[in-house]
Amino acid sequence: MLQYLVILLDDTSVAYCHADNPLKEHNLIPLNTLRKAILFGMKENLMIQYVYPEYELPEEYNEVIESIDHVKIGREVAVYNAVPQTITAENAVLRISIADFISKQYDIAALLPQVTRLNISLTDIETFKDEQQENYKKALATLNAVLLNLYQSDKQPQVNILTDRLQLKEMHNCGAGDTNITLAPNGKFYLCPAFYYDEKIGISNRLNHHKPSSERSVGDLEAGLKIPNQQLLKLDHAPLCRICDAYHCNRCIWLNQKLTWDNNTPSHQQCVIAHLERNAARDLQQQLGTDNFEEEAIIKPIDYIDPFDVREQF
Ligand code: SF4
Repeated sequence: MLQYLVILLDDTSVAYCHADNPLKEHNLIPLNTLRKAILFGMKENLMIQYVYPEYELPEEYNEVIESIDHVKIGREVAVYNAVPQTITAENAVLRISIADFISKQYDIAALLPQVTRLNISLTDIETFKDEQQENYKKALATLNAVLLNLYQSDKQPQVNILTDRLQLKEMHNCGAGDTNITLAPNGKFYLCPAFYYDEKIGISNRLNHHKPSSERSVGDLEAGLKIPNQQLLKLDHAPLCRICDAYHCNRCIWLNQKLTWDNNTPSHQQCVIAHLERNAARDLQQQLGTDNFEEEAIIKPIDYIDPFDVREQF
């Protein structure tokens, strides 16, 4: 069921997830389109998430934006593309390459006491090599050590790749096209911002078997949402993910499409990274004491790192 409407206020709105925004020219959403988008959100009872560009919006936009409850990504949720010295926002996103995450692990760990929540988003998951597993594990352990100290004091910051899994009893993934949908400045809906960027820069839509096209929209504000084969985006149609307990995993359908040509089939890279995080979360949970967690949330030991390798066991 849809819960969130992501509104890209401009073509240059900040990237806040795995995918980069390659668009460089300003293209502000028309005020009337923004009003219609808000109306759509109200009718569907959706929480609005505005994604801001770097520049300040014209004054007349602010009144419309404030007319409904919302979250501002790129403002109150600060987005960093490099490790900052300090973070002033309570809630922040750090977009970072795997190599930088590993080499700057101590700088990142030093940020944890400053935030309420830090979302770490790896920007080059597709390049991950099995040889990097040990270094990625060590970097996660460095963050865990700081979290453990903090959790024994009053401050208990969340770090998506480590602490989300601690409490989860079922899948809680990105949900693009399922629990959330994105509206672009052109008034059209997309499964997530990355599909809009692909359309804009003309990347051919491999899943469109009818004719070569970069078209990616799944409806617009006039005709409404039209998501073809929406069931294929859901967990119960994902044979690997539905047997998996890396519940915090993004299950990024855009990355799936890019790497496996299928929305619901994950790549080895995504699964391995998510399982290293899941296992690091287990270490943290064990150190915090499993008595502090509900029985169904206790993370069990496993002997695989990619569910594809053990799929016959389930
Ligand atoms: S780790 Fe792999 S199988 Fe598990 S939820 Fe993520 S993408 Fe799906």
